[in-house]
Amino acid sequence: MITIEQAVRKLKSRLDPLGTEEIPVLKSAGRILREDLSSPHAIPPFDKSAMDGYAVRAADVADASVEAPAVLKVLEDIPAGQVGNFRLRKGTTARIMTGAPLPAGADAVVMVEDTVMAPEGVLIRKAATRGANVGPAGEDVKKGETVLTAGTLLGAAEMGMIAATGRSRIEVSIRPKVRIVSTGSEILKPGVKLRPGHIYDANGYSLTGLAGERGAEARFLGIAADRKGALEQKIAQAEDADLLVLSGGVSVGDYDLVQDILLGLGVEQIFHKVRIKPGMPTFAGVRGTSFVLGLPGHPVSCMVTFMLFAGVIIDTMLGRNTAGPRRTTAILSDSLRLKPARRKYLRGIVENSDGRLVVSPYHAQESGVLKSMVAADVLIEVAEGVTELEAGRPVDIVYF
Ligand code: AMP
Ligand code: MG
Repeated sequence: MITIEQAVRKLKSRLDPLGTEEIPVLKSAGRILREDLSSPHAIPPFDKSAMDGYAVRAADVADASVEAPAVLKVLEDIPAGQVGNFRLRKGTTARIMTGAPLPAGADAVVMVEDTVMAPEGVLIRKAATRGANVGPAGEDVKKGETVLTAGTLLGAAEMGMIAATGRSRIEVSIRPKVRIVSTGSEILKPGVKLRPGHIYDANGYSLTGLAGERGAEARFLGIAADRKGALEQKIAQAEDADLLVLSGGVSVGDYDLVQDILLGLGVEQIFHKVRIKPGMPTFAGVRGTSFVLGLPGHPVSCMVTFMLFAGVIIDTMLGRNTAGPRRTTAILSDSLRLKPARRKYLRGIVENSDGRLVVSPYHAQESGVLKSMVAADVLIEVAEGVTELEAGRPVDIVYF
């Protein structure tokens, strides 16, 4: 049985980023940028006033005070969106609004609150130094500066930044088509009446949610009973999939048919069984450019293995430049006793306690307890071979 690192390496060696498409920046939240983006101009493009007031030559008002104001002649008014007509010479000023470009010759702005109008001009009642109340050209971004690189996940700040460079459309990754199938003759579609010996499908829904959150174009294809014909029919519906994810039917039970059927359909096995808990029976394969994961049916195992393996596949297809979810360490709240076999991923709840990150393992770690996933926000990663973890020691955590 291979380790998770080996399994991930095997997957990555078979994966390439998908192509790109051009979309409006307004629709780009959650997408992955696939070009390096630089600004063709400085941002802001000109020295601009940060206040409503008077554009001045700092030298003219260097000694100004309430008792001895500087008197300046007002040449013009410069509202935002207009450019001044005059160069300031000694003893002159221009009325200026926030966001308007400084007129030639000006090097500071005095806020209107520090001025008084008088018959002979405007009285400047406070000294200003060079650059006061001025947002210099390029304060945010220099001309030609790279503001975002290919592989970046786009959110609100990135959308604003892209727009500020003047672009309205950008090149992003095509979203991988992830198709999801739940398998098991006991699995019922929510919404119908519960029958004896049956349970409602949880996996189809949690996996569709996970795939969407990860940036895929996710579609749930429904439930297949543990029969060859039923399974093959569902798999056929996933023809267009970049990644087909099946849950259930990958263990060694009499009705665990998924692996055999996939191999029979010409899927090449990448791995089957990984030394992790939960999630040991996970199957991965590929046919052409279409990947397939067979995940264990237990609702927790299924979500955890999706995060570990489908996450890698989707991230790579998307061409993301940050590898996987955020990891860090936290202090363990309670001592843990564990079986030594296999790498473990326990469900944990993180809290900030006196400025330290503390993680508590959820009280029920069985792979059928889906409530643990609802309650938890991280997986606690425990190395193979570890049988005891003392309370108070740091442990590795991986955010969902
Ligand atoms: P399997 O991997 O098919 O052996 O299933 C393992 C366990 O997970 C069994 O108890 C199944 O009933 C349960 N299970 C399988 N698929 C689902 C599903 N879609 N939703 C909820 N539980 C499931
Ligand atoms: Mg089953």
